Amino acid sequence: MFATLTKSTPHQVNQADRLPDDLFTAIAELKQKMNAVILAHYYQDPDLQDVADYIGDSLGLSQQAANTDAEVIVFLGVHFMAETAKILNPQKQVLLPDLDAGCSLADSCPPAEFAAFKAKHPDHLVISYINCSAAIKAMSDIICTSSNAVSIVNQIPADQPIIFAPDRNLGRYVAEQTGRDLVLWQGTCMVHEIFSERKLIALKQKHPQAEIVAHPECEPAVLRHADHIGSTTALLKYVQNSDRQEFIVVTEEGILHQMRKAAPDKVLIPAPPDNDCPCNQCPHMRLNTLEKLYLAMKNRQPEITLDESVRVAALQPIQKMLEMSR
Ligand code: SF4
Repeated sequence: MFATLTKSTPHQVNQADRLPDDLFTAIAELKQKMNAVILAHYYQDPDLQDVADYIGDSLGLSQQAANTDAEVIVFLGVHFMAETAKILNPQKQVLLPDLDAGCSLADSCPPAEFAAFKAKHPDHLVISYINCSAAIKAMSDIICTSSNAVSIVNQIPADQPIIFAPDRNLGRYVAEQTGRDLVLWQGTCMVHEIFSERKLIALKQKHPQAEIVAHPECEPAVLRHADHIGSTTALLKYVQNSDRQEFIVVTEEGILHQMRKAAPDKVLIPAPPDNDCPCNQCPHMRLNTLEKLYLAMKNRQPEITLDESVRVAALQPIQKMLEMSR
């Protein structure tokens, strides 16, 4: 039995595309037929996380993309993540269910402006957070993620000046942790910068036993209240292994799905943003849906394509990160 898709983006195929009633089974069948692997970020909808072969943060996802034997990589995340998979796998088809799934942080670092910024600091090594476009990666010396940023900066000789881009909050956190004086690009993530310190304090007063766990992309005013700061994977492990029972989670709400699975007996409270919503979801990540995933696999589009010279230049700093993270 089939249903008809009534709403689609310009990147989706025609509106007459018919959807099977059981999308989960249909996606599993297509995956086998295509020899595909489905990689999903923690910030995806729970349904998408549940159909993935691997769920992780940016470091884990790029490691998986680098090592997969599958012929097709279906990426459930945002554009720069799928682009990273393509940089690592030029011979493979990389599909992203919605090509409009962008990132405010990546967009906050336009290549021409970054090139001018870099030219003002010619002696500096450029370490870029993986949340940037392929063009910015191509201008970088080393890529990092929130999981390995501190360790990577610690591996650089102390007398080597460093530019850190594009996230200023992660950069500030890394500077604090390493004691290094980093030159920061002033980019931010629209999700992590809008957590409200005032609402967080009120929430903590209501739940005094709860520990606050936060992602380093949050603003310093929020991070100063955190009991533990870490990447999404680090926060997940912390909640799972901690003796405490209650946690206020200050990052994109999608991570709660895996936290609930890993620690079903714990109380997880999403921190509120500074707007009318009770929780904080990334609108870019949420553009991917189960329906679009099915259609992308069925039609083998939208597909990530890259200029080969940009791909080759962007590959070097990613490989450097993977080497330095072993
Ligand atoms: S959560 Fe922030 S950094 Fe991640 S994709 Fe969304 S806008 Fe970009």
